[in-house]
Amino acid sequence: MSEPAFRRILLKLSGEALMGDLPYGADPERIAAIARQVKFVADRGVEIAIVVGGGNIYRGLQGAAAGMDRATGDYMGMLATVLNALALQDALEKVGADTRVQSAITISEVAEQYIRRRAMRHLEKGRVVIFAAGTGNPFFTTDTAAALRALEIHAEAMLMAKNNVEGVYTADPRVDPDARFIEEISYQEAIEQRLTVMDSTALSLCMDNDLPIHVFNMDDERNIDRIVCGERVGTVVRNA
Ligand code: UDP
Repeated sequence: MSEPAFRRILLKLSGEALMGDLPYGADPERIAAIARQVKFVADRGVEIAIVVGGGNIYRGLQGAAAGMDRATGDYMGMLATVLNALALQDALEKVGADTRVQSAITISEVAEQYIRRRAMRHLEKGRVVIFAAGTGNPFFTTDTAAALRALEIHAEAMLMAKNNVEGVYTADPRVDPDARFIEEISYQEAIEQRLTVMDSTALSLCMDNDLPIHVFNMDDERNIDRIVCGERVGTVVRNA
């Protein structure tokens, strides 16, 4: 087996990535498959932190569209990510991985509070750390939380899981048959062309701090290991 190319990574799992073929919520089979793969990569000595989204359950914009205060909706969205984090933790523990959930919103009965140094210590001990509740602030996304946490814990790369697509395209391949796959692109180009890598706040944060992003298809969970091994998978976003 080849040596891992990264020592510490941050994996961003959107709510959609946990949904499988379900129309709503999280698919236990899908989560179990992800957990097995995360454990496999962790067993190779790679330190893994995960930021989970909540879009499979609730998005703040949904509430705002229905007339709810945006901030209230966003807090509900952050709580949705906690549900996903606990489901993922359970699945990881079932396959024998040591895990900790750290939440950006204090919910001390179910998760540790986010403490950067503590998170890093967990990682050093080989525990998989799941960051829940995004940044803890409304008007942000879990993509931004992923970029922020990745930088805070000195992750060497951010792995951005997508569903049903191999990476970044010139347009949405599920809609536009002329969409072209992009192997590598700079942050600047991705922002200018408004490509659906992640939102622009998150992208800018990665750009300003030189954090490479690997966008890949999560339908094949082995892709995580391939990227960690330095294989060319999906799209890489970095400074040209
Ligand atoms: N959210 C927030 N602040 C954050 C992260 C998330 O307010 O720092 C809220 C926001 O309402 C968002 C929801 O949580 O719609 C779920 O997160 P996101 O949409 O990023 O999940 P994903 O698309 O990754 O499933």
